[in-house]
Parts: sequence; C-alpha cells; structure tokens
Amino acid sequence: MKIKAIQVAVIFCPDCRGQFEVPIEDFCEDEVLECDLCSAEVIVTSEKPPRVKLFTEADDF
Ligand SMILES: [Zn+2]
Repeated sequence: MKIKAIQVAVIFCPDCRGQFEVPIEDFCEDEVLECDLCSAEVIVTSEKPPRVKLFTEADDF
C-alpha cells in the first residue's frame, strides 16, 4: 500500500494548459516553478487559492 506522505498542490500551466503537481512546501508566493510537461516557468501569485502565471523576465517589477 502506498501512502502519500507529502501534500501536493495541483498547478494548471498557463502555457500548455496541462496540470502538474508540486510539493506543497515548494508552493509559496513569488516562487518560480517549472512545468513538468512543457518546461515553462511559472511564478506563484497566490497560495490560496493556488494561482500561477507565466514567468517572463520582462515581468521584473
Ligand atoms: Zn506547461
């Protein structure tokens, strides 16, 4: 029997519209994460509810 020891956040990738999971402890505001599916970089804009947007270098404000 497999026990899920870590909690994950489900992220919807704004680029490929797929979904991937990250450990909840990696999911905090302003954290840049990489999509498992298309390798796009997304930045966390909100923890609750979980929200991300596509990270671009031009977004540096
Ligand atoms: Zn993606």
